[in-house]
Amino acid sequence: MGKNYDYIVIGGGIAGSFLALELSKSSKVLLIDKGPLLGGATGSAAEIITLQLPEPFINWAIESLNIYEEIGAPIKRVEAILATDEKCAEKYLRILDSANVESWVLTRSEASRESGLRLRGSYIYLATLDALLDVGRLGNLMRSLFNLKGVEVLEYTVVRPKNIRDLRVNIGSDKFEADHAIIVAAGAWSLEILGIGNKRLAGSRLYKCEAHSVDIGKKVKTIFYEDLSGTYIVPESPTTVIVGDGSNNIIRSPEKGLVPSPGSVYEVLEGLSRAVADVENAIPRTSWAAPCLISGDGWPIVGTVPDLEKIYIFTGLDGVGLMIAPALARMLSEHLLKRGRLLSGLNPLRKVEPWRGPPEEPPEPYRLGC
Ligand SMILES: Cc1cc2nc3c(=O)[nH]c(=O)nc-3n(C[C@H](O)[C@H](O)[C@H](O)COP(=O)(O)OP(=O)(O)OC[C@H]3O[C@@H](n4cnc5c(N)ncnc54)[C@H](O)[C@@H]3O)c2cc1C
Repeated sequence: MGKNYDYIVIGGGIAGSFLALELSKSSKVLLIDKGPLLGGATGSAAEIITLQLPEPFINWAIESLNIYEEIGAPIKRVEAILATDEKCAEKYLRILDSANVESWVLTRSEASRESGLRLRGSYIYLATLDALLDVGRLGNLMRSLFNLKGVEVLEYTVVRPKNIRDLRVNIGSDKFEADHAIIVAAGAWSLEILGIGNKRLAGSRLYKCEAHSVDIGKKVKTIFYEDLSGTYIVPESPTTVIVGDGSNNIIRSPEKGLVPSPGSVYEVLEGLSRAVADVENAIPRTSWAAPCLISGDGWPIVGTVPDLEKIYIFTGLDGVGLMIAPALARMLSEHLLKRGRLLSGLNPLRKVEPWRGPPEEPPEPYRLGC
């Protein structure tokens, strides 16, 4: 049986879902995912939308926040405190100021009072109004928007390289044809789907993103980042918080990214303990992990792929997908609909040296640590 669409999007994480939504404003779209919508790395995220980012990420994050608000996404604005040193504080203040994001400096006792945490050490405390996104509720909203806009969704349907022929996706006896383009937005699995795993587009690498739920025995009121160790605390329930860090283990296949590393929660707590006295008594509850994909220069990967005309890739969102995917989805959609350009810095074929740093350190520029 054959069915025609303008666009077929493979992968219904934050990237593919927002792209499908954007394209559906004027096109017929099919969205395919091997699991449920917004599962994948998106379903494992710590749900932070921070504005304490380098350029151009901060501008994508601001635009993404506007898009979340436009569709009525379950976003809660929450104060966030970044504990950093003087040099980095100056750099962040400059970036935040040029992006017109309100930020303010707190003393340690003010930061302790605002956050509900016992803070220590010698830091500059920089506050902004960040946000938390409820991904579970966003999934429900997406389903009803897709219904409304006529986006056809096929969940629990795996696409393999052999299923893609020209602009057709064959699943069993079903044939789905795209008139304009197929877009692979399958996160860490994207290269595997296109059968180009070893070509390492834009010097890309797979690594494991992890987070942990810990009982801290008290209510935390703000998001808190320790910039120098790249660790963070997010309020979860009355006495539980989510902790995580930017340290990353390089992995060989996406599936390996799904298994948390034993003991990594203690490394995170150790990093945080330089700034937060309360974490010394924290009791770890659960840990989880998912694969993330990053390019050699830390910029996302968005554009056509080698030898496969009219097949686009939209990935490389690293640990900031929730913050920047809606803005990038809008940019890609405008490009596909011939109304706008893609930034050349996102080109999957750009020359980027495969990143050769120590495996536990991600490359700049997306990293919070300055
Ligand atoms: C522990 C953790 C904490 C994080 N915290 C944050 C945070 O606080 N804020 C933030 O902005 N980002 C965070 N991130 C990063 C964020 O989750 C990712 O950047 C983002 O989810 C990537 O989105 P994506 O759509 O590219 O990929 P994914 O969400 O992984 O989506 C890819 C989709 O493709 C589907 N797929 C894969 N293979 C196939 C196939 N063969 N056929 C069909 N479908 C397929 C998958 O099922 C999946 O649904 C975190 C990540 C982790 C793991």
